[in-house]
Amino acid sequence: MEFSQYRTDALLTITNRPPLVFVEGEGMWLTDHQGKRYLDYLQGWAVNCLGHSPQCIQDALAAQAKKLINPSPAFYNEPMVSLASALTAASCYDRVFFANSGAEANESAIKLARKWGQKNPNANGESRHEIITFDHSFHGRTLATMSASGKPGWDKIFAPQVSGFHKADLNDIASVEKFIGDRTVAVMLEPVQGEGGVIPATREFMQALRELTSKRNLLLIVDEVQSGMGRCGELFAYQLSGIEPDIMTLGKGIGGGVPLSAMLCKEAFACFEPGDQGGTYNGNPLMTAVGGAVLAALQAPGFLSSVREKGQYLRSELLKLTERFGLAGERGEGLLRALKLGRPIGPQIVELARDMGPVGLLLNSPRPDLLRFMPALNVSKDEIDQMIAMLAEVLETIAAAEAKQ
Ligand SMILES: *Cc1c(COP(=O)(O)O)cnc(C)c1O
Repeated sequence: MEFSQYRTDALLTITNRPPLVFVEGEGMWLTDHQGKRYLDYLQGWAVNCLGHSPQCIQDALAAQAKKLINPSPAFYNEPMVSLASALTAASCYDRVFFANSGAEANESAIKLARKWGQKNPNANGESRHEIITFDHSFHGRTLATMSASGKPGWDKIFAPQVSGFHKADLNDIASVEKFIGDRTVAVMLEPVQGEGGVIPATREFMQALRELTSKRNLLLIVDEVQSGMGRCGELFAYQLSGIEPDIMTLGKGIGGGVPLSAMLCKEAFACFEPGDQGGTYNGNPLMTAVGGAVLAALQAPGFLSSVREKGQYLRSELLKLTERFGLAGERGEGLLRALKLGRPIGPQIVELARDMGPVGLLLNSPRPDLLRFMPALNVSKDEIDQMIAMLAEVLETIAAAEAKQ
């Protein structure tokens, strides 16, 4: 079928999409409406942690769809209970609330912090609700999570914002201290800023934050929607810094491609009362059965060490490209990595890579001078080599065009 035959104008425009309709996916590969194949380093925005349509997700969906799809969140169901207990066993948390998207899990964390701040007032007996977040952070697209985010321009588009968020600077503890007032209840951050350009919080900063928040009776919330579920080489990125935050949110990888997210907290902060929080689809067995299958795959012996190995390999190959093409280096944790281009050629690379033939390459440029790599966590070494070779070809093309000018 020709692209023009698809009635794409029936869709509300929310982003500029290329004229492609994807019809099939397998592992690291996607196929479009004309049968062209693409090596996919987006993976649904770091969502498909086991690649496209992995067998274990197909099986979990088929088996659970036959059994029970949704008895309502007013009742327990087996996959919901078993995934919650597996997540608490694998982390420092005691309680889990399931939702459908990262933004919704973060809304939940914000609500829980505000609730806790009502129950734990300041010295004047006033409830506390202010949350310190960070410049360039990304927490989602609901009004509250947009207000929590430090994305440039987001304070204006749907003004007025939800109030009570202050933006400190990542890896600068003094900038956090400066914003602590008698209404402050929490500090919330991504252990590795994803959309902001793959910027890791340092181990020292995470430890200083833990110390500061404990001392000042504030909650420490980690948004692990992107960094969690093995992406950074540990099951959860907070484990890289040897601290235990009070609240954690998960999304993206936890569903391996289906809509599932979670907010986890320690027992001491589990202060929601019946009626405070909910949602029609929350904890439905179809999605939580997938979450269970994904978590089991990530916990298989050797899986996370292979993520770390492939992260190191990707890193070393990106450094070779840096050397060869005079780029500005790379950064990241595990298989969440960025190549610093040193100049604003990111969007051009994305287009050239996608349109090259006979096989295309899908890349992401969250900032014009940066490429972000979010492969499936079970990507093969060969698929890393193929990507690097294709990217080198694109960089050659750009260098040749620049030389002619
Ligand atoms: C993607 C992302 C979100 C939002 O998740 P959605 O499922 O799109 O709502 C929140 N926080 C971080 C760190 C993310 O990367």
